[in-house]
Amino acid sequence: MAEGRIIKALSGFYYVESENKIYQCRGRGVFRNQKITPLVGDFVEFDIKDTNEGYIMEIEPRENELVRPPIANINQAIIVSSAISPDFSTKLLDRFLVLIESKNIEPIIFITKMDAISEDKKAEMGNYKKIYQNIGYQVELLSTKDSKYFPDLISYFKDNVTVIAGQSGVGKSSLINALQPTLLLETAEISESLGRGKHTTRHVELLKVHGGLVADTPGFSALDFTEIQAEDLTGYFPEMRERREDCKFRGCLHHKEPKCAIKEALSNGELEKFRYNHYISFLEEIQSRKPRY
Ligand code: GDP
Ligand code: ZN
Repeated sequence: MAEGRIIKALSGFYYVESENKIYQCRGRGVFRNQKITPLVGDFVEFDIKDTNEGYIMEIEPRENELVRPPIANINQAIIVSSAISPDFSTKLLDRFLVLIESKNIEPIIFITKMDAISEDKKAEMGNYKKIYQNIGYQVELLSTKDSKYFPDLISYFKDNVTVIAGQSGVGKSSLINALQPTLLLETAEISESLGRGKHTTRHVELLKVHGGLVADTPGFSALDFTEIQAEDLTGYFPEMRERREDCKFRGCLHHKEPKCAIKEALSNGELEKFRYNHYISFLEEIQSRKPRY
């Protein structure tokens, strides 16, 4: 039996890469009875039927899996935000951070369109960069139109399986195309010139980008917190996560409870107010949904 990794799924076939060769496979293993379907990103065992065809027999246990895009074993997510058009929003960024943290995937923050903003705005973005770095995140300020940024950006991909996340128009496709010009994903300009809407992707694929793999479809398109429990939310804010042990009450939600270490740190100026405000807003969003019985 050969071992490999599924790098593409299309029309019922799985394309398995093994020792630099690609095998077109169908699923036929014991996993069929276990109601598991192979996912792009899965490590599999497969039977080679012909020179480049085979049958997937076994799926290795997954580190994690995403629903959109359907990919397993992702280890990092690059959140692309833009400094302008659309305007930079810390609340949206924090929403992505929480969702990615909740999947146990490492988030990285890329802020694009630095070429298109004023000096004042650049200083403001520099300030945000420091804030998020202090929390523990890696942050890059960049322009997809300027190659001087590329060497630093490229280094993030090596040996990683990356999903790119971010709202529409922030420059996700431009980023991938800039770093890997041969791929040519559809950017807004290209889809306009072809006279069709965006997101015409019909399959899922892991693309090779600078020594790593990158999902060709953006992740975390559903931005609601339906899978997150109120008591887990603190765990997805690293600066709160490390302080929560000091709250007086177990299960403190750092909202209305007394003797709360987080609220104390906040009043001492050790935590960013806007991050706490987003925490409370997300908490209320989670609490306002109907309980699931
Ligand atoms: P996506 O929807 O996130 O994939 O965004 P696109 O890559 O399609 O980019 C949306 C628009 O922003 C396009 O018109 C791009 O040319 C433009 N764009 C992307 N990155 C930058 C950047 O760094 N600077 C500037 N000025 N424009 C950018
Ligand atoms: Zn507390």
